Amino acid sequence: MLEIKNLHAQFEDTKILKGVDLTVNPGEVHVLLGPNGSGKSTLGRVILGDEKYEKTEGTINFKGEDFEEFEPSERAQAGFFFTFQSPPEIDGVSVKDFLFAAKKAFEPDFASSFKFKKGLTQTLEDLRLPGEFIDRETNLGFSGGERKKIEMASMMTLNPDCAFLDEIDSGIDIDTIKQIGKTIREFLSDKSKSLILVTHSDKLLEEIEPTHVHIFGQGVILKSGGKELVAEIQEGGFDKHVKKANTKLNVVN
Ligand code: ADP
Ligand code: MG
Repeated sequence: MLEIKNLHAQFEDTKILKGVDLTVNPGEVHVLLGPNGSGKSTLGRVILGDEKYEKTEGTINFKGEDFEEFEPSERAQAGFFFTFQSPPEIDGVSVKDFLFAAKKAFEPDFASSFKFKKGLTQTLEDLRLPGEFIDRETNLGFSGGERKKIEMASMMTLNPDCAFLDEIDSGIDIDTIKQIGKTIREFLSDKSKSLILVTHSDKLLEEIEPTHVHIFGQGVILKSGGKELVAEIQEGGFDKHVKKANTKLNVVN
């Protein structure tokens, strides 16, 4: 599904990603754990093709195609979905119209219908957001948690092949985290889907069964393993891994 090799990227003159290798197959759930500022969100943005970041080395292949040639909208249309950590407000466009337009960009033949509206209302209600939110201007005056729920509703509406959820659970109350977990499990019930999840919260990891866990630090994946890495980080934190990587880098230099 997604194959990233030796990815290097920078923002202006600052190198952020320094050689990321990551392969995500259908049906896999990859969790990225790492300290703030280590480059996790940048990874998602570079996969999506955010032009603020310059990709300096490496390749990103999605479903067998080189993303290099794709605009961000084409990357989304190809089936890659990335949530914003701070989703923007879209004045004058209701949640319903926004998501309908997005869906139509995916599927030009998609027609608005009672069913679409009903399905979306249900998705929002499942996420503990009153159904009338579908008629509100997108994200205008929404709380942080409400915006995250709209991101989840976008994912469910667009039904991408690979979703990168970036701290979807931050600022969310415990009951809603359970709901988000349930929504993610519903998405993953189709075994052809794959997920990359960045989180700092144990609560969401109780809801989702990762197949792969990666410790991300200083722009690279420092260690990969299974669920046992979650417990290791919960107990020992990131410092040990980051220090070890520093030592290694010094040796190489
Ligand atoms: P993480 O998501 O792991 O917390 P980020 O990918 O957001 O980390 O950021 C990695 C580093 O790159 C940070 O030091 C951050 O300040 C910097 N950075 C990323 N994007 C920008 C940007 N648009 N403007 C300025 N600095 C940025
Ligand atoms: Mg981040």
